[in-house]
Amino acid sequence: MKCLSCGKWSFRIICKNCQSLITLKPTLRLVGDLKVYSFFAYSEIESLLHYKYSPVGSRVYRVLCKIAREYFAPTFSLKEAYGVGIDDSVRRGYSHNGIFLSEFRKCGIKPIYGELLAQSDVSYAGKSLEYRQTHPKGFATHLKERKNLIIFDDIITTGVSLSEAKRVLEQEGNEVLFALVLCNARG
Ligand SMILES: [Zn+2]
Repeated sequence: MKCLSCGKWSFRIICKNCQSLITLKPTLRLVGDLKVYSFFAYSEIESLLHYKYSPVGSRVYRVLCKIAREYFAPTFSLKEAYGVGIDDSVRRGYSHNGIFLSEFRKCGIKPIYGELLAQSDVSYAGKSLEYRQTHPKGFATHLKERKNLIIFDDIITTGVSLSEAKRVLEQEGNEVLFALVLCNARG
C-alpha cells in the first residue's frame, strides 16, 4: 500500500518516517476543575483526521492513539484506573473513542465501554460556546460510586462536553481523576 502522508510504498498506513514526523504537542487545559490533558494540536494533525470517516480511518486513528499512549505510559503509575469514552457508540463501523480506550488499556487503564452515550443528537461542530452550553448532550451512565475514572475524548474545543460528562458521572457518586483528549482544537 501507499503511505497516506507521503505516498511512498509502505507496509504501514502511515510509513515509519512519516510517523516519526507527527509531532506531539502535549497541553494541559483546565475546564472548571477538570484537568484535560491533550496530545496533539488539531491544526497539526488535521490532514490525518480528514481520514476519520474513510475506510482507513480507524487505522489512521490507531496510529495517533499509539503515539499518544507511548508518550503517556511512562508518566502513569496508578494501579486501578478506568477509562470511559464520551459517546463511544459505533458510527460508520468503528468508534473513535473505542480505539482510544483500547489503546490505553495497554498502560493499565481498564476500558468501560458505552457508559457515556449522548441521548441527544445535537452536534457542536461550528457552534458557539453559548449554543453548546444551552444544548446539553444528555449523557447517560449506569456507573455508580466508581473511583479513578478517566474520561476519554478525541478533541477538546470549548470543553463543554467534557464538563457535562464529569458532572453526570459525579452525580452518580463517581470520582473523575482527569480527562485525556487526543487533540486540542486550540493548540
Ligand atoms: Zn510516509
